[in-house]
Amino acid sequence: MTDVTLDTIANLAKKRGFVYPASEIYGGLRSSWDYGPLGVELLRNVRQAWWQAMVTGRDDIVGLDSAIIQAAEVWVASGHVDSFTDPLVECTSCNNRFRLDKLEDEHQCPNCGKRDSFTSPKQFNLMFKTFMGPVEDEGSTVFLRPETAQGIFINFANVVRTARMRPPFGIAQIGKSFRNEITPGQFVFRTREFEQMEMEFFVPPAEAEEWYRYWLEERRNWYLSLGMKEENLRLRAHEKDELAHYAAGCSDVDYRFPWGWDELEGIANRTDFDLKAHAERSGQDLRFYDQATDERYYPYVIEPAAGLTRSAFAFLLDAYHEEEVRGETRVVLRLHPRLAPIKVAVLPLSKKPELMEVAQQIADDLRPHWNIEIDVTQSIGRRYRRQDEIGTPYAVTVDFDSLEDQAVTVRDRDTMEQERVPMAGLVDHLTGRFAGLL
Ligand code: ATP
Repeated sequence: MTDVTLDTIANLAKKRGFVYPASEIYGGLRSSWDYGPLGVELLRNVRQAWWQAMVTGRDDIVGLDSAIIQAAEVWVASGHVDSFTDPLVECTSCNNRFRLDKLEDEHQCPNCGKRDSFTSPKQFNLMFKTFMGPVEDEGSTVFLRPETAQGIFINFANVVRTARMRPPFGIAQIGKSFRNEITPGQFVFRTREFEQMEMEFFVPPAEAEEWYRYWLEERRNWYLSLGMKEENLRLRAHEKDELAHYAAGCSDVDYRFPWGWDELEGIANRTDFDLKAHAERSGQDLRFYDQATDERYYPYVIEPAAGLTRSAFAFLLDAYHEEEVRGETRVVLRLHPRLAPIKVAVLPLSKKPELMEVAQQIADDLRPHWNIEIDVTQSIGRRYRRQDEIGTPYAVTVDFDSLEDQAVTVRDRDTMEQERVPMAGLVDHLTGRFAGLL
């Protein structure tokens, strides 16, 4: 196993086009990041794997895409306006600001080292505020959503009515969320703009505990099914004093990041807190009507809430591998094929027109099936190195023999084994290799 540092991954991500610092030409923002050609594919693949596992692969969960900007009342009812806060302290010596609950030592400034220099903590609201429409006054204040979950709760009755769902059932959503974090950092781990993958599972209250246990296992298994190493994952139940005011239980799926265990996803039993709160504030009846028993009730909610950008980062860390090959260090991202941005690279040995023509034909044949890249720059060794570093599972090399034997070499990223395969059967061959993995 390779212990990878944050800098190593951040450098590789930048060098190869996964992640760039946002507004880099203006000095960078530090709290947001732009995803490059490979990063955008990685995010799409993680998103797709989650959607497949949570929505299209099941018959008890449906999807939703709600607006980022909602009525301000949504965030009053949910409790975010009053209590979505972090304790902020400022060092009176160096004027840096910190989140008190994340400090290693509450008495020492991690920036300048001064002891007992902090101001008393102020509750800082993490929501981004803006104005809707041309008048900037109190009445036009709106918020960028700090989580996608509330968009689901306020559409509960719509979905029940139109999708004819009945508990136990879920509504899933993927999208951007915004939090004015006091201390963004650790690369894309904590940013002020990020993407979440959340699902609210509505159940009869008596079944809540059972479904909570069910989702803990399901969610942990999802990371494992995408190749994350078991020793880098753990489930951690929250202590009673850590629980949010609405939660009857909460556990995190933690990943072993370079700085230690930290949260990838939270799975909470949110009880009937949110539906009740919105029912009260809006005056709408948000209970579920059970025809079978002629009863109306508020379902309990089990919520697995994951970070898309944060888990993509964890998948990168987990896949990073260095090994000695013939006296040189080979860096390889052992990404699960489903997550790999490029599935197959086509590499003509030289830029000679006769090889380029064959390579182009192969690329055209493969493209309808997989995301492929044809790479003609630099030496073949360097091109293999690049494909290893971006996690491409297979490279197809077209050489001068190909013109004679109508065959190409398929190289496996992980074993580096090479196999000669007839061009006419290449799509079938690769389909076989990817079977059950994509
Ligand atoms: P923390 O206590 O670390 O601030 P949280 O417990 O408030 O986070 P949740 O509200 O449970 O986080 O959010 C669910 C998931 O969304 C998190 O597990 C994480 O993967 C992701 N997430 C939350 N905040 C951020 C952020 N600032 N940047 C990137 N991802 C985030």
